[in-house]
Amino acid sequence: MVLRKGSISNEVEEYLKVIYKLERKTGFAKTLEIAKQLRLSPGSVTNTIENLEKRNLIVHKLYRGVKLTDKGKKIALAVIKKHRLSERLLTDVLGMDWSQVHEAACKLEHGISDEVLRLLERFLEYPATCPHGNPIPGGSKGVKEETEPLLDLEPGEKGIIVKITEERKEVLEYFERIGLTLGSLIRVEEKNLADGLIKVGIGEAEVYLTPRLTSIINVKRIRKKSEGDKPLS
Ligand SMILES: [Zn+2]
Repeated sequence: MVLRKGSISNEVEEYLKVIYKLERKTGFAKTLEIAKQLRLSPGSVTNTIENLEKRNLIVHKLYRGVKLTDKGKKIALAVIKKHRLSERLLTDVLGMDWSQVHEAACKLEHGISDEVLRLLERFLEYPATCPHGNPIPGGSKGVKEETEPLLDLEPGEKGIIVKITEERKEVLEYFERIGLTLGSLIRVEEKNLADGLIKVGIGEAEVYLTPRLTSIINVKRIRKKSEGDKPLS
């Protein structure tokens, strides 16, 4: 394989992807957070960050962290798109379970050329989201679903699970075990128990979720029926 000069390596793509996600969460991506996400030492991350800045992919603001330039953002979005379309390919076409696809897609995403991306997107008919409900950049401009964090629901409120923002196998396998998948109905029973635990009901089951697990679940809230509405019998 011949690497073109100035071509973007897998490593750079990973960095830009992580920075994009952190930036969306907190405005800036801090070096320590980037290191944590990539499971690297802060020292080695600092070197690469300097390099990314030289290549005009990010800007570094002292004490605040880094932000992507337009050029960096374009690459990050393309990698995220390749990741999420790869996940769709794995679930929809190859029949892989949604809990298992993230890790495989992490490898596939770096091997997809822009041309293959276009063909893949067309073949999959421009899906709006990955199998975990996360939006595919530039995907079909379908109806915008209203979603909100499960944490915003008060005890007694219900929602349909529409998005899970963390896709690691360990997490999704556990969710699957307790019946927590996209499309399932979830009720908040109690909040702020010891250590911030949240008691939720899924079908007949009642389970406790940690604040961190709760924070990665997004739902479409089910509005309460107005007074006088009779339940369907
Ligand atoms: Zn996904």
